[in-house]
Amino acid sequence: MLTVQEAQARILADVLPQPTEAVPLDQAYGRVLAADLRSPLDVPPWDNSAMDGYAVQAADTSESAISLHINEVIGAGEVGTVPITSGTASAIMTGAPVPEGADAVVMVEWTDAAREGSVQITGKALVGQHIRPQGGDVARGSVVLTAGQILTPGKVGLIASLGMPTIAVSRKPVVAILSTGDEVVAPGEALGPGQIYSSNNFALAGLVREAGAEPRDMGNAPDNLEGLIEHMRRCLDADVVLTTGGVSVGVYDFVKEAYGALGAEMDFWKVKMKPGKPLAFGRASHGGRTVPLFGLPGNPVSCMVNFLQFVRPYLRTALGDPAPYLPIVDAVAGNDFHGGPGRLRLVRVRLAVEAGGWVARSTGSQSSGVLTSMARANGLLCIPVEADAPKAGESVRVQLLDPGFLTGAAPHY
Ligand code: AMP
Ligand code: MG
Repeated sequence: MLTVQEAQARILADVLPQPTEAVPLDQAYGRVLAADLRSPLDVPPWDNSAMDGYAVQAADTSESAISLHINEVIGAGEVGTVPITSGTASAIMTGAPVPEGADAVVMVEWTDAAREGSVQITGKALVGQHIRPQGGDVARGSVVLTAGQILTPGKVGLIASLGMPTIAVSRKPVVAILSTGDEVVAPGEALGPGQIYSSNNFALAGLVREAGAEPRDMGNAPDNLEGLIEHMRRCLDADVVLTTGGVSVGVYDFVKEAYGALGAEMDFWKVKMKPGKPLAFGRASHGGRTVPLFGLPGNPVSCMVNFLQFVRPYLRTALGDPAPYLPIVDAVAGNDFHGGPGRLRLVRVRLAVEAGGWVARSTGSQSSGVLTSMARANGLLCIPVEADAPKAGESVRVQLLDPGFLTGAAPHY
């Protein structure tokens, strides 16, 4: 049986990068930049004032107050027409281009209104003072963002400041999601005897979106080989196919057989992991493309945990993200954990920030079908294959399910 790391290496061995597409800037947030971005212009495009004040020649000013004739008032969006010569100044507003001849800006707070048409400067100005130089933020031709970076609000704003209305990003992979099982019913329908509601389609759709891809719900396939093959075939137009359930050793577990019937090659089945041991991974050829098939377990938590360890890294790699894995942080066990070695164990925990650092506590039953403990969790405590379960107070490592979990507190600067 493969370790999780071995299985990840096999899955990531031949990921093809997604094609790129240009998107309007207002849809660029969260996307992955497709190529290095060079600035087509200087930002700012000319020397401009950082203050409301007066553009002057620094050499005119001194420790003692002096009076300068005011040439004109230059507002933001205006260009001064009178060059600054010795003995003169122009009133200038924040963001306006510094007029010719000026080498400093004195802020209003350092001036006194004097007679009509002149201003008193009450201190010594330094050359360059309060002038934002042309290209001081971004120099024309320089690389401002590199391929693979995720477009945060700051980065989107930076691209806008370069005057670009669209940006090239990796196209979102389309991910087909097919649940299996005669017992599985969509929410909103009436439950018959022995039936349950499908949670996997919905949990996976959210995970797919969070991973930066586009989910396509393909419904549910029945527990017979012909029906399953037919449903799976309809999925092959997608970039990635996820099935849930039917991948274990039950009488009605047909997913592996369906791979064969579809001409797909199965790379491996089962990984040394708890929850989520039964994972099948294969590749189908369809329309000249290779389509990865992930046979995720049916148990809702196994299904999600498997997605996070295997499908998410695949999708992030295809998108060009150089850091495709969820972050892992050091923490302290807040309670005793149980269970013996043999597999990588990923335990649902809630991380909290306490005086000594981050503390991880179990969110409840770790049974692979119990979604309440998954819903409460913001991390997965990682117990390595050969390690014993940690006791309270011991150092542990926790994979972050929700890197935003530190938000929500009142500002405490
Ligand atoms: P299986 O691997 O098909 O034997 O399924 C394992 C367990 O997961 C069974 O208890 C199934 O009823 C359950 N299960 C399978 N598919 C789903 C689903 N889409 N939503 C919720 N539970 C499911
Ligand atoms: Mg089943």
